[in-house]
Amino acid sequence: MSKGTINVSVDNIFPLIKKFLYSDHEIFLRELISNATDATLKLKHLANIGEADGVEYGNPIIEVKLDKEKKQLRIIDQGIGMTAEEVEKYINQIAFSGAEEFIEKYKDKDGKDAGIIGHFGLGFYSAFMVAEKVEIITKSFKDEPAVHWTCDGSPEFTLEKADKKDRGTEIILHIAEDSTEFLEESRISELLVKYNKFMPIPIKFGTRTETLPKPEDAKEDDPAPTQEVDNIINNPNPAWTKAPTELEDKDYNEFYREMYPMQFEEPLFHIHLNVDYPFNLTGILYFPKMTNDMSIQKDKIQLYQNQVFVTDNVEGIVPEFLTMLRGVIDSPDIPLNVSRSYLQADGAVKKISSYITRKVADKLKSLFNNDREGFEKKWNDIKIVIEYGMLTEDKFFDKAKDFALYPTVDNAFYTFSELKDKIKDAQTDKDDKLVILYASNKEEQHSYIQAAKDKGYEVLLLDSPIVTHLLQKIEGSEEKVSFVRVDSDHVENLIKKDDEQISKLSDEEKETLKTFLDGVIPKEKFTVQLEAMDSNANPFIITEPEFMRRMKDMQKTGGGGMFGMGGFPEMYNLIVNTNHELVSEILNTKTDKKKERLVNQALDLARLSKNLLKGEELTAFIKRSYEMIK
Ligand code: ADP
Repeated sequence: MSKGTINVSVDNIFPLIKKFLYSDHEIFLRELISNATDATLKLKHLANIGEADGVEYGNPIIEVKLDKEKKQLRIIDQGIGMTAEEVEKYINQIAFSGAEEFIEKYKDKDGKDAGIIGHFGLGFYSAFMVAEKVEIITKSFKDEPAVHWTCDGSPEFTLEKADKKDRGTEIILHIAEDSTEFLEESRISELLVKYNKFMPIPIKFGTRTETLPKPEDAKEDDPAPTQEVDNIINNPNPAWTKAPTELEDKDYNEFYREMYPMQFEEPLFHIHLNVDYPFNLTGILYFPKMTNDMSIQKDKIQLYQNQVFVTDNVEGIVPEFLTMLRGVIDSPDIPLNVSRSYLQADGAVKKISSYITRKVADKLKSLFNNDREGFEKKWNDIKIVIEYGMLTEDKFFDKAKDFALYPTVDNAFYTFSELKDKIKDAQTDKDDKLVILYASNKEEQHSYIQAAKDKGYEVLLLDSPIVTHLLQKIEGSEEKVSFVRVDSDHVENLIKKDDEQISKLSDEEKETLKTFLDGVIPKEKFTVQLEAMDSNANPFIITEPEFMRRMKDMQKTGGGGMFGMGGFPEMYNLIVNTNHELVSEILNTKTDKKKERLVNQALDLARLSKNLLKGEELTAFIKRSYEMIK
């Protein structure tokens, strides 16, 4: 037996490890199983290249064993093992110098930086976050005696011969008083599923009972025979590690269910990522059915490194709009021991991010080209990602021109260039500007939509929460195009043409009408505007100027903010159609009281058609209406 002192400058690094990584103690298991996996894969490699003479690689597994009585957790592998000399070098020197380096890096960050992603690369000594004593019993694949290393967290260790006969390493953790949660079977199971579900070497945790088919001569009430089998917690060959040619749609869907067992809906489609130059990355991304609520759908993509789970926060690695997707990304080329802000500036990560963006765009384009009808059907479930991507990533914006769709209120779907062709004759205004009309809600804006359709205009239905921002962007990138919501003005004014309508009222009559209306209509809510319109158009129409409404919308979804917390004042235009019969009738009604009643009734009807009549005012309107018809 020999004793020694680990050569570290900090007297006792383990309390420091505990302190700095308080919230993430659980990662010790991932680290130890990663080491066991590496040791197994190293042996496989040596056997493959013929450098492990007389070694039978076989079908090695890793075993995790819990002994609550003895307060022990053991991780046992059948990998390459270590000689005494190697323990001295790899554990006493390398592992602990790594620990010191890590602490140096971590110290200045007051423990808050979520930066050191998943505290990767912590390695062997992370065992001391949960154990008061750690033992290693290991036998190298080389013909040398097994050794037994023990360390209680002080820089002193002992190293002695052991009688372990079979190749591999066993790590014994004596779980500390403050970490007894790691003696619970359910907790260990949870961690194995979280971090190790797709690791490449089978991991056994206890046994489970398997029901066998009944023998043919069994009686009806004979119980089915059972047998105890190894409980293997992982799938060592997950779909993303295979070539796309090996997989069919059903395999992708099965893998989706394996990743998201609580998700009952099938994904809409998937994208297989597979690149090995200039960086190495594999993965599968899925488009789930999206809702318009962007915030709840994030953090569903899992990041792996060589099949080891790292994090489900891929911020900075994939562009923000794609964090709404689901699936897996596995890349050894993403630096994990750096902060997020550093990560975003990293050249390799930038390349990865733009590769993923490009793959997503290519996939969408091919879906659009190969099955336009199917793509149109999916549009409403995926548009939020595409529109958000167009808004936030210029490269994606350019590519999306080929497949982004603009649906109409009647469920026709146009690309932007198809749309322009379709409407250019009817919807170019007197200044040669193409005016694209849209609605955000078919029900609420029904009367405005109808008026526009009656004039032969196309009306788009654009209802994503970010659509206002996107329209601004499109207007900025296209010449002579503007978007106008159908309820932002009366239909004649939406697309200004040269033909002036003649007013039935004389200037004097208009003056009288205006004065009367200004006296009745609340000034703080409506600006009255007389317009000579088609006599079939409604007499009173409430509109909200496009500019005002956009500012309001943008304030709701971030940006803007000119009016502070109070928001924008409720201000509308009241358009009065001087050519409508009712307006002449108002003008010709003798008593002011009757006149006022007509005006209020017409105003309320206009409010009703814009969904603005509520509460007390609605009650008053209903009462007045009954009186008028009795
Ligand atoms: P890293 O794995 O990042 O190199 P660690 O601190 O986890 O750092 O481990 C240090 C070294 O100890 C490893 O590189 C490896 O050589 C050796 N080692 C750790 N665990 C095992 C194991 N289960 N079997 C064989 N060697 C191991």
